[in-house]
Amino acid sequence: MTQATLFERIIAREIPATIVFEDAQCLAFKDINPQAPLHALVVPKRPIPKVSDAVPSDAALLGHLLLVAAQVARDAGYGEAFRLAINNGAGAGQTVFHLHVHVLAGRPLTWPPG
Ligand code: AMP
Repeated sequence: MTQATLFERIIAREIPATIVFEDAQCLAFKDINPQAPLHALVVPKRPIPKVSDAVPSDAALLGHLLLVAAQVARDAGYGEAFRLAINNGAGAGQTVFHLHVHVLAGRPLTWPPG
């Protein structure tokens, strides 16, 4: 049996988190190490390790994550200016291998990101 990911354990309420949104398909919660006044993570309840592991049948779920991410930004009062980021692979900074969308807002967001 494979071990549950950190985010599966948050979804199961085994690890506490500040939850900002939940539905049947996903959970959104505050990042423990925020990089902006709003820094939330939107994670699918069905774990996919990373975007590059997704398959065509995941398309609706992936789209849903983006819609929820925009809703999380709107709900926090940042609906007009926010950044969504997905790190894919250790070389791109991914540390938790359970796909998640970072939602960042509330400070100037420069480009390119680091
Ligand atoms: P990434 O580096 O893209 O894989 O992002 C993983 C994110 O998970 C980082 O921004 C971490 O700060 C965040 N994180 C790690 N542990 C927790 C936790 N227990 N609760 C909330 N966020 C976490």
